Amino acid sequence: MQRLPTIGSKLPAVGTTIFTVMSRLAAEHDAINLSQGFPGFDCSPRLQEQVVKYLRGGYNQYAPMPGVPALREVLGRKTADLYGVAYDPDTGITITSGATEALFAAITAVVRPGDEVILFEPAYDSYAPAVELNGGVPVYVTLTPPEYAVDWAQVAGRITDKTRLMVVNTPHNPTGRVWTQDDLDRLAALVRDRDIMLVADEVYEHITFDGRPHISLMTHPTLRERTFVCGSFGKTFHITGWKVGYCLAPPELTVEFRKVHQFLTFSTITPVQHALADYLREPEHYLSLPAFYERKRNLFLESIGASRFRFAPTQGTFFQNVSYADITDGSDYELAIRLTKEIGVASIPVSVFYHGQNDYRILRFCFAKDDDILKRAGERLSKL
Ligand code: PMP
Ligand code: GLN
Repeated sequence: MQRLPTIGSKLPAVGTTIFTVMSRLAAEHDAINLSQGFPGFDCSPRLQEQVVKYLRGGYNQYAPMPGVPALREVLGRKTADLYGVAYDPDTGITITSGATEALFAAITAVVRPGDEVILFEPAYDSYAPAVELNGGVPVYVTLTPPEYAVDWAQVAGRITDKTRLMVVNTPHNPTGRVWTQDDLDRLAALVRDRDIMLVADEVYEHITFDGRPHISLMTHPTLRERTFVCGSFGKTFHITGWKVGYCLAPPELTVEFRKVHQFLTFSTITPVQHALADYLREPEHYLSLPAFYERKRNLFLESIGASRFRFAPTQGTFFQNVSYADITDGSDYELAIRLTKEIGVASIPVSVFYHGQNDYRILRFCFAKDDDILKRAGERLSKL
């Protein structure tokens, strides 16, 4: 009789992501789903028509491994116009299957067994597993509410001879915090003379509020030369389901990045890349985003203005964090489940983005939804 092999998990601590758990619970209870971050409205019909045009036009075989040239070229021009940095489409720009792939490929290109990787927590949930699957060790710097400012003394204290990479996320999911020029300067001072690379997760680059600029890591000369900047079209064009992202990096880094990318997915969906190349030529599609989402943020905040939640307006992303300390002493996980089942509004408990226990009592709400949904959610939340 043959012996069945045992798989032995490489990620024993990982379960189903909170996004799946909460979205499923919201559907089961017919709740307003402000948990998982995705727009509740559709993308532009023009963009859809462009995809159809390329689908029908025979653009249905493998794209070139680094991405469709037209998309890389227009992305290069957009980046030069917006941030004043010229990445060469051939040697510095790679199109990926979502930012998730870009992050995984960049981390895999750098991290070897035993390397330490600094993560700022609360951290987006894909970073630590990517580090661990490569044999790396996540080392955490804690950001605490309500400010979530980076404690640079803490960062300095976490750096050791084994530190090989830091993952930076600005604007930051889940807290909405936007890094300042001072943050970038302090980061540069710490990494300048060390063998430390950077991954910059900038998927919310076009969603910042109150006139606050997004300061990309690529704009800092010391940081640029050691950074993989990861982006996504999902957040910018309301197409999270299409899973198209990219990585911008100096040539030597791009060579190593593409070695991973070509065996992870090889290439990314062809007709969508062509359609995005056309659409990206018109800057108003992304330049209109701050005003679009700032209005929604304000509307949501107004709708919970009389509630017992406490909050500071989020600086960026389409997430608003609120404190429920005046409402209950219970855990955020329990409260998120209770609110979904009992008042019909689903949120994300922010403690899940920390590796240890904490009692900050914060929930995250996604306000990328139609106005009437946000108002209805606000009415329900105000009854608590
Ligand atoms: N990073 C952050 C901070 C995100 O919020 C997300 C998606 N919500 C991603 C990466 C993944 O982006 P994509 O959907 O393009 O893979
Ligand atoms: N990034 C989205 C969020 O933060 C979810 C992405 C996912 O479901 N994997 O809610």
